[in-house]
Order: sequence, then C-alpha cells, then structure tokens
Amino acid sequence: MANDFDSFSEKLRVEEALTFDDVLLRPKESSVEPDEASTATRVSTSVELTVPVLSAAMDTVTESNMAIAMARHGGLGVLHRNMSIDQMVEEIDRVKRADELIIPLEEVVTVDPEMSVREADSRMEREGVGGAPVINTNGEVLGIISSTDVRPHLEVGESDPVSEAMTDEVITAPQDIDPREAFDMMYEHKIERVPVVDEENLLVGLVTMQGILQRREFDEAARDEGGHLRVGVAVGPFELDRAQAADDAGADILFIDCAHAHNRNVIESARDIKSKVGADVVVGNIGTREAAAAVVDFADGVKVGIGPGSICTTRVVTGAGMPQISAIAQVADVASQHKVPVIADGGIRYSGDAIKAIAAGADAIMLGSYFAGTDEAPGRVIIMNGKKYKQYRGMGSVGAMKSGGGDRYFKDDTDEEFVPEGVEAATPYKGTLESELHQLVGGMQSGMGYVGADSIPEFKERAEFVRVSPAGQQEGHPHDVVITDEAPNYSPE
Ligand code: 5GP
Repeated sequence: MANDFDSFSEKLRVEEALTFDDVLLRPKESSVEPDEASTATRVSTSVELTVPVLSAAMDTVTESNMAIAMARHGGLGVLHRNMSIDQMVEEIDRVKRADELIIPLEEVVTVDPEMSVREADSRMEREGVGGAPVINTNGEVLGIISSTDVRPHLEVGESDPVSEAMTDEVITAPQDIDPREAFDMMYEHKIERVPVVDEENLLVGLVTMQGILQRREFDEAARDEGGHLRVGVAVGPFELDRAQAADDAGADILFIDCAHAHNRNVIESARDIKSKVGADVVVGNIGTREAAAAVVDFADGVKVGIGPGSICTTRVVTGAGMPQISAIAQVADVASQHKVPVIADGGIRYSGDAIKAIAAGADAIMLGSYFAGTDEAPGRVIIMNGKKYKQYRGMGSVGAMKSGGGDRYFKDDTDEEFVPEGVEAATPYKGTLESELHQLVGGMQSGMGYVGADSIPEFKERAEFVRVSPAGQQEGHPHDVVITDEAPNYSPE
C-alpha cells in the first residue's frame, strides 16, 4: 500500500476520537470558590482577555453590536466577512469608537455665540445632549452652555444670544487627558462635560461624565493600548486586500477563516498575510496535530473545529471531521509546545462543554449558536408557534454562501449550484448577551471549582477526564421528571 498500512483491513484498527458528551471532569479536592476563579486567558500572541470567550464570525452572530457587547464584557467578537471591505472598515470603526473617552469633533454638538437661547435649546434637545461647547467660526472655545444656563432665559428672554447665557469661565482639557484625570477634573468642578482643545484653544472633542461612568461600568472590558474596545475580524484565506484594510482600520486579530486550513495554499497565503500586517493572525480551522505542526511557526493562535458546529453538515456531507475534544487535545499538544494559544470553535451547547474544551487544552472558546439568539446578534426576532426565535445559519449554507464567503469551503460563489456544508435554521430567542455570558462564565467557574483550580493555566494542568458510558450520559441530564420551569442555563436537546 502507498501509505503506512499493510492492508485495507488494517485501516480499521483506528484511534478513538472523543467529544464533549464522551467525557466528564473528574472532581478533585478543592479550596476554590467559583466566584473567585479567574478566567483570564490569552487568545493570541498579544491579546489577553478576562473572559475566554469569542463570538463566531457568522453573519447571524457577529457584527459591530455583538463585538461591542462582547468586548465590554471581557470577551472578543469576531466580525464575519459576508460584507464589503468598506462595510467591514465601518464596522471596525464602530467598535473602536464605541467607548471612546473623547467624543471626536465631528460628533460634538456645538452652538455659536450669536445663536438665540431658544435655538440653542432646541438644538440640544434635538441632539439629546444636556450641554454644548460654544465656539466661534474659527472653532475657538468661548464658553459652554447647559440646560441649566438656558432655563431662566427661556422664561424671560428666549431671543437673548447664547453669549449672554453661557458660562464663559470654561474648563478645558488637553488632548492627552486620561480617564482618571478627566474624572477628577469634573468631580472637583462639579461639571458634566469638558471641551478638549489643542494648543490654540481650538475645540477638538468633548469628554463627558456619562462616557467616563460607562467605561467604569465595564472594568473587565477587552481594550487595546489606546483604551478602545478590541475586535477580531474574519478574512478569507486568500484575501490579502481585506486583511490589509482590516489591519489599517485597527483590527486587533485577523482570523484566517477557512473550513480546512490544513491546505498548502491556505497556509502559504496565511503566512504571507502574517508577514504583511501588524495585527495578530489566528489560523483555522484545524483539527489534528499534523495541521498544528504546519502552522505553529508563524500563527499567533490556532482555531480548532472540523465539523462540530451546531449548523454544520461537513461530517455528513464530506465524511471528514474530528470529534472536538480529541481535536482540541491533538492541536494543543503541539501548540502548547510553541506557546501558541488554542481556540476551540464549535459544538459548545452548555457551559460544561466550554470548560471541558479548556480542560482538553484550549485557551479560549468560540460560540455561534449559544449567542445567535441574543439581542446583540444581527437579525430580527421571529415568532413561530407562539415562541420567539432568531435566524441562525451556517456560513456554508446555501443562503450564506450566496451572499459571499463560499471560499471558506473552497467554493466559488458564482457557482450556480452549491454543495453546502451547513444548514439554515432558527434558534430560541434569549435576551441580552450579558445574561447569556453570565451563565456561561459562571458555569465555567463552577467547573474550575470542582477541579480545584483558580486560574485557566492551573485548571488546564489539574483537570482530568473520566470516560462516560451512554448510561452515564443519560444520568447527567435531568431524568425521570417533567421540567416545570426552564433553567436559564439548561434546555433539553
Ligand atoms: P456552534 O457554536 O453553533 O456549534 O458552531 C459555530 C462554528 O461553526 C463557527 O464558529 C464556525 O467555525 C462553524 N461553522 C459556521 N458555519 C458553518 C457551516 O456552514 N459549516 C461548517 N462546517 N461549520 C460552520
């Protein structure tokens, strides 16, 4: 025979590959309170997260709303690529601007000193702001006006000019102000907003107390060095132009988005992209130790998953795949030797699956169906038989491939008839991402408690598996009862 086999029958003496339901974490002596277990992790060479969770690069899961919410809560959203490069740049921009300390000049509502108080009041009300810097035609800051300044004039002299009503002893901030200084300044002077000016006192932006408090609320957020929310972006295996545009727009990680990245052309192209961008490059998907060995010399992270996804039909259509727990372990064996982070992508239905993925060697997990039903996922709520759902479709489904991205499956999207590797579906509507993420991470922390580990690296070291029989699997789910009230973190399959 041409390969390592002496006969065809020998091929049937195969290695066993396991997935989530085949294993459980072996409980161990512990002194760890789940709430105190740290879930901080590294997803790529230079990106650390407080929550080891990514939302999938799918057109029914991650656009800027999801990416903003994910990053605010400590995880990372990966923008899908069924959009034009211009749209992608806009989406990256939306994430990067979401929690900006300084509102840029183009977005600051300003008034001019000659305007009547009535006009200024109407403008502020229309724009939904409680105050505005007063600037002359050069853009110089002359004062600041708020609803409190306006109110007495509206009673007696609504045509008075703004210059008579404004506060002219205005406190301004320099462009390099940081959140702490801005807060102290506003607190000391009991003011709600501070115009930011350049050396010539020309207005360049505005800092508001509301903005600062919002940033404080998200103290676990994933932020870049400049304090902007982090964002991942999917790029096609051969899309150098998209990769460069995403890099220029400030994407933190580029995810080479391919169903089978253990392909020589894909790897060469990924290597080329890596050499031409500043962002980290994560390569995926892969599912074997040989594939990991082929990319660890240049990849900033690897993503694992050949066919485990909830909407995926790769294994039945192509006959190829690798059960996910074994795939993660094989890849992690190689990647960990090279200190390359591993992301487990697909097949995670419960928080228990998520923490098993970490035990098998992953540093972080990526989820599609788990988040597709949340408010932040694109798409509207649909009602079927009185129950609420949201659309969720595979990126290899006919619908998704028709709108681009067929090259993930080595398909040309001008093909008349696709051979899909995914289905179009609906998933129960779930409310906010925040509450879903809370359940997911809380369940993972409880798993860490059962194993007695208070950090992800320690958990990966300490966790051991036991093999579960079909009877054991059945025992693990509610049985012999009728569920009367659905739990927020469990629904029967
Ligand atoms: P889920 O969390 O829903 O189980 O899986 C999500 C993952 O499935 C995605 O991150 C992606 O890697 C993979 N995926 C998305 N769409 C498709 C598809 O149409 N076919 C296949 N084979 N995988 C898909």
